[in-house]
Amino acid sequence: MNTPPFWKSKKLTEMNREEWESLCDGCGKCCLNKLEDEDTGEIFFTSVVCDLIDLKTCRCTRYAERTRLVPDCVDIKSERFVQYDWLPSTCAYRLIAEGRDLPSWHPLISGRRESVHAAGVSIRSYAIRESESSDLLEHIIEWLT
Ligand code: SF4
Ligand code: SF4
Repeated sequence: MNTPPFWKSKKLTEMNREEWESLCDGCGKCCLNKLEDEDTGEIFFTSVVCDLIDLKTCRCTRYAERTRLVPDCVDIKSERFVQYDWLPSTCAYRLIAEGRDLPSWHPLISGRRESVHAAGVSIRSYAIRESESSDLLEHIIEWLT
């Protein structure tokens, strides 16, 4: 009998660091600037992204020290006992937290880091740096995936 992969057999809280890190698909969406409606609490993502991201790989260039360098940067692992619903619907941590499976384009399924970009799920094609943008309201986006 085949052993199920770790993301099907373990809860997020049971994963070791290597498993946890490999779950990130590298889409870069969580590094986009967000706006929150003060009345409803609704979160709106924008196409404006943190300056510390590599726009080609969509990965953080200062990952180990990210929360020290960028106070707004959220360490999702430290939020593990809180909520994941603010994350994009495609985010692997949110999918697993909601009891769903990983999509075919996820690198753990495809075996290729590029598959998240090829599927159009990453921010590679549209993100702009926050140092090159002034008004977040002009850059609110909606995802189809
Ligand atoms: S949204 Fe989720 S899967 Fe995408 S980069 Fe952020 S943590 Fe990783
Ligand atoms: S510091 Fe790195 S992980 Fe944090 S928002 Fe910026 S690019 Fe993303």
